[in-house]
Amino acid sequence: MFNIVKGTHDVIKEEAKKYSYIEEALANFATIYGYKEFRTPIIENSELFTRSVGNSSDIVRKEMYTFEDKGGRSITLRPEMTAGTIRSMVNEKLFAIQDYPVKAFYCGPNFRYERPQQGRYRQFNQFGVECAGVTTVERDVEVIALAYSMLQFLGFEDVKLSINTLGDEETRTNYKNALKEYFSKHVDNMCSDCKERFNLNIMRILDCKVESDRKIIDKAPKISSYLSTNAKEKFDKTLNYLKDLDIPYVIDEELVRGLDYYTGIVFEFHYTSKNGNNYGAICAGGHYGHLISEIGGPDLEGVGFAFGIERLAKVMEDDGLFPDLDDGIDLFIMPIGEKARNFSVSLAYNLRNLFFSTEICYEDKSFSQMFKKAERRNAKLALIIGENELEKKEVTLKDLNTKEQETIKIDDLLKVLYKYFEQDEHNHEHSEHECCCGHHSHQDCDNDDHECHHEHDESDHCCCHKHEK
Ligand code: ATP
Ligand code: MG
Repeated sequence: MFNIVKGTHDVIKEEAKKYSYIEEALANFATIYGYKEFRTPIIENSELFTRSVGNSSDIVRKEMYTFEDKGGRSITLRPEMTAGTIRSMVNEKLFAIQDYPVKAFYCGPNFRYERPQQGRYRQFNQFGVECAGVTTVERDVEVIALAYSMLQFLGFEDVKLSINTLGDEETRTNYKNALKEYFSKHVDNMCSDCKERFNLNIMRILDCKVESDRKIIDKAPKISSYLSTNAKEKFDKTLNYLKDLDIPYVIDEELVRGLDYYTGIVFEFHYTSKNGNNYGAICAGGHYGHLISEIGGPDLEGVGFAFGIERLAKVMEDDGLFPDLDDGIDLFIMPIGEKARNFSVSLAYNLRNLFFSTEICYEDKSFSQMFKKAERRNAKLALIIGENELEKKEVTLKDLNTKEQETIKIDDLLKVLYKYFEQDEHNHEHSEHECCCGHHSHQDCDNDDHECHHEHDESDHCCCHKHEK
């Protein structure tokens, strides 16, 4: 037995289905907004993250999985996906060859050496978007609106958007001076991380989660008092748009986010499930002013966010927000005897090629054992094939829901199955692929209403695919 690595988790079966459901829904939404998928490497040169995520961030200071490869290069397992995505845009010269903004969405695992706890893993999955080449407030708003729409689509009702602005250069210079003055009186009594933050990037102190430090931080100067006219105008404009779109928000002046590359607006979505669980931010993002040029690209800005899939799945599970992700099968074949078993091999092969999810019991089992197996697989129909029936070219089909059964000619099987599944589920998965005319031999198929491709001309079955509308 090998133990799983601390802070990692297996995502299997039903849970994997839930992850796929979330990821597919988010990808569809991102596509509607014009984002294209980017799949970048999990390993990157370490410098990419020290330069972008920043030396003062917790991620770079203590959470990165960094190692030297056999060629002596310093390699890091990505702790986040913005840096790699922007690097790819720069390397692929997308800023030179396409219109702005360059819109990317991504999904995949990230690695951070964090203390494992509820909603916090060492390997976790993110889904995110980057809208790069952007300076307008409207794009910032569009990105927040996208995240909000995604959450609404997934069924979240009272999701809380916390938003703040980190202002422009002028704002940050003045604000950092004010923080320096304030914290210089307190830093000796604060945690060791805050002592480092004091020197490296003082605004990061606001992100400290140590209880006794929080009391000091609560009394620190607020950024709203230091916003330049320009920064204030921009922030007000953002908030007005959010009001127009009916996206509820709260301003959280201590929200600075854990990555150094943010400038301008930053935001997080939080959600507490009905039983009181809150696993931390389920989505977080913001506007970055210098990241693209830091990574070697043009002097353009960008905005993006990332969802934490683990946290999202957890709160959705808590509040029953997943639809029925039925993983039942269409058919469970029960052959009785050797001949029936032989016949079942090709029958199952053909049925599966026609998109009927099919399982078979090849072992010698009693009827009741086979029915139990079918039940455990959540099968809709049982297909019983006895030796005598086989000689008469017949099979018995039992509806495991209604318990009704009928004996039919094998030649009629497909016709019966298509009819059953058409009635059973209007939008059954087969509808795109199945024979839409009910014939089970393509020679019989003369339906002119649609175009038929006879892809498998050699087969006995009709494989005409219904053309998409
Ligand atoms: P936190 O403040 O909770 O540490 P963060 O600011 O480090 O979050 P980001 O780097 O912005 O988070 O990542 C975006 C999202 O990824 C987070 O909102 C969260 O949902 C998820 N996430 C971040 N770290 C982890 C982790 N260790 N385990 C699971 N999910 C995570
Ligand atoms: Mg973190």
